[in-house]
Amino acid sequence: MKLKTLSTVKITPKLLLNLIQLPFKKVEKPCIYCPGICISVCPTFINTGNLSLSPLGYSRYEDLGRNNCLKCWRCVSECPLSYPLPESYASEVKLTLEVLKKRETVLLSARNLDEKYSYGLSELLGTGLILINGLVERYDEGRPVNPSSLKRILRALKNYRKVYTISPESHHTLSVPLLIENLSGFSIRLNYNGPIHIPCLLLNREEKIIQALISIGVRPTKIIRDQCLKMEEPDGLSLCPRASMRNVKTIFDEILASLSY
Ligand code: SF4
Ligand code: SF4
Repeated sequence: MKLKTLSTVKITPKLLLNLIQLPFKKVEKPCIYCPGICISVCPTFINTGNLSLSPLGYSRYEDLGRNNCLKCWRCVSECPLSYPLPESYASEVKLTLEVLKKRETVLLSARNLDEKYSYGLSELLGTGLILINGLVERYDEGRPVNPSSLKRILRALKNYRKVYTISPESHHTLSVPLLIENLSGFSIRLNYNGPIHIPCLLLNREEKIIQALISIGVRPTKIIRDQCLKMEEPDGLSLCPRASMRNVKTIFDEILASLSY
């Protein structure tokens, strides 16, 4: 538990006891019993200092969560129970696939998240292209994924020799390897020297991603971890395709530029 958390929430023996017992109880909303171990990483709480705009508030008042939670999933990585609070605000969503171009190696594109890049990248890299529907609903509206649809998608993706993705959301839901960690396989060299922004959903892969980028010529001068794209524009090259919607340059702009010459 982080020191920052200890200074933010009052941890009493009763609260600790509640928390320790949680894995053995059948509870639907563990946050009700929790002092908010995760709140020190919640961007809306950090920005406002308002407990209502933290996981504690969102778990108690669904409307607040639906409208204000960024669905960035930072709290889940801090939660001792990995409770997926950011997907608890609405009804299930079914994931579906559309195969746009069949090849042994395919790029998986998330509808309304990264098409701007994935169409051009699949063309220039010579890969196939598959579109996945439903992910934006999970990460923007807080809708849990229908388990059978998820199983179907995972089965369908096994038909391809290699599948890569550029959206952190596809990687997070389906564990599909990230293109940015595998650029050397496509003989890509980049010539970027400057700050790099790590998207919330990829914080746990930071080390691997940075190593992979360094191996293809990227020279990071600073790593930006604390800026959630849904709240502010990071001041560095972003590894998230969403950044382009906020007019922030992304690594995919760099890749496309390098492939176009
Ligand atoms: S998400 Fe986990 S750590 Fe955060 S308040 Fe809920 S139970 Fe506690
Ligand atoms: S998903 Fe992000 S904004 Fe929402 S409660 Fe968790 S940390 Fe806070």
